[in-house]
Amino acid sequence: MAMTYEALLKGHQSFITSSLPERAQQYHTLGTQGQSPRVLMITCCDSRIDPCELTGASVGDLFIVRNVANFIPSAETTDGIAYDSTMAAIQYAVLHLEVSDLVVLGHTQCGGIAAVMDTDDSTPATNEIQQWIQLIIPAKKRWHSESSSVSDMSPHDQCAQHAIQYSLNNCMTHDWLRSRVESNQLNLHGWYVDLATGQIQILEHQS
Ligand SMILES: [Zn+2]
Repeated sequence: MAMTYEALLKGHQSFITSSLPERAQQYHTLGTQGQSPRVLMITCCDSRIDPCELTGASVGDLFIVRNVANFIPSAETTDGIAYDSTMAAIQYAVLHLEVSDLVVLGHTQCGGIAAVMDTDDSTPATNEIQQWIQLIIPAKKRWHSESSSVSDMSPHDQCAQHAIQYSLNNCMTHDWLRSRVESNQLNLHGWYVDLATGQIQILEHQS
């Protein structure tokens, strides 16, 4: 059973009295001197993904951008707020915090990917979810065009992993991202976590 709002408030009180005292200095330093994370992570809104828990990271370690299906739009996309929010956060991490690594972390059983699989580009987008999902349709097309090869993976996992590769390739359509990658100041990575086991698979980047 997931925690209720009231339980979260109690949890915070417990944090104040039990965990915070021994980490007060860490909080004070971060809270007064600013952040300097080395890794930018783009992951899904899904409540079952906790990048810090999966990696042992702590407060101040990860700059995290969350959106539906952990997607990075291409530079050709001009679809408004959702696109701008994601790219503004990524740009801040890359240009101002100068992170050295960008990780796209996707996952099994992603509702966003399931929606991508159920949608085609002839379907008119009539709400915000559909508009966002339409941005990811090209990843599904790429998967379809390459799906002749035999795979042990489920169609969902194949589509989700193609979407991660598509996001990594989209990075290179943004001049400010491409120049960082080409000068070896920024490394791109694709990760895929199995929610049922907690195991992360490191994907080989396919451009
Ligand atoms: Zn998801």
